[in-house]
Amino acid sequence: MSEVRKIIHVDMDCFYAAVEMRDDPRLREVPLAVGGSSRRGVVTTANYEARRFGVHSALPVFLALQRCPHLVLVPPRFEQYRALSREIRALLRSWTPLVEPLSLDEAYLDVTDAGRPATTIATEIRQRIRHEFRLPVSAGVAPNKLLAKIASDWNKPNGQFVLPPGEVPAFVRDLPVRRLWGIGPRAEERLRAHGVHSCAQLQQWSAHELEQEFGRFGSELFLLCRGIDHRPVQPARIRKSLSNERTFPEPVASPEDLEARVADLHEELLADLHGQPELRRRVAGVFVKVKFSDFSSTSLSRSGPHGSLSRFLPLAREAFARSPLPARLLGLGFRFHPTPSPHHQLLLPLP
Ligand SMILES: [Mg+2]
Repeated sequence: MSEVRKIIHVDMDCFYAAVEMRDDPRLREVPLAVGGSSRRGVVTTANYEARRFGVHSALPVFLALQRCPHLVLVPPRFEQYRALSREIRALLRSWTPLVEPLSLDEAYLDVTDAGRPATTIATEIRQRIRHEFRLPVSAGVAPNKLLAKIASDWNKPNGQFVLPPGEVPAFVRDLPVRRLWGIGPRAEERLRAHGVHSCAQLQQWSAHELEQEFGRFGSELFLLCRGIDHRPVQPARIRKSLSNERTFPEPVASPEDLEARVADLHEELLADLHGQPELRRRVAGVFVKVKFSDFSSTSLSRSGPHGSLSRFLPLAREAFARSPLPARLLGLGFRFHPTPSPHHQLLLPLP
């Protein structure tokens, strides 16, 4: 392996909404949101037309309808998204076996040793997906996962952005801190109060200062704001966990609201898990994470091979009850057995 990695982040553009628009021409010209089965539910994905009205994912449905009264709301068809996602992942593996799915509509590829320019590969991937699935997709190319993910978002929708290693320092300097993984609206606010907007400004802080402000996340932030990220691309077979997190635009204060969010997030997480049969066979336990409005966070886990909603709800309730403060973020996840089961090994491609 060479020292400088070539990572591609492939991200479908408003995936669920795009699938609905593809399958029903009547939905193409209207503001569309896929989401919540109840008014307490949230928007899962909004198309670009709806985004113009301020409708976005994680927004409660009743607020979405206030912002855009003629919003067309369709229930999610996770079966369909999952099937498509499986096919898209299979296609991605034709470039490299090093494909790490991040969710149903996103994946990282490590093409360091693919023997061809990453830019060419990214272009091919986008063309093939557009052609074979009739769905828009964006891609980012960079030396690590952090930057590849930022890059795929840079020219969205239907775009591509390449960040060569030599341009990383300059790119990162001008980058708003909000773009960094782990910096949500609240952390952004907090940094702004210190006069920090860009990564260049954050780079002035010592590791110690960052830790004082952000706890353990601070030491990670020290690297992130320099564009440094050593996380490897992990194909499903060596994956240890799969999770889904959501930062709420408005803090969630009541247990009933939290439970509705748990149900929505669980539906998505389950769809994601079922899209990866090799992972489903290895479920070892579940976990729940709640971050409160003061940035403190707590998590709870239970072992066992089951992942139904009834496994997550009590954990979420218990975690939520640990602080009197409203919740800013909710995360649900599965942990996996470290070694593939014998059944799984049969499915591994031959070397
Ligand atoms: Mg996407």
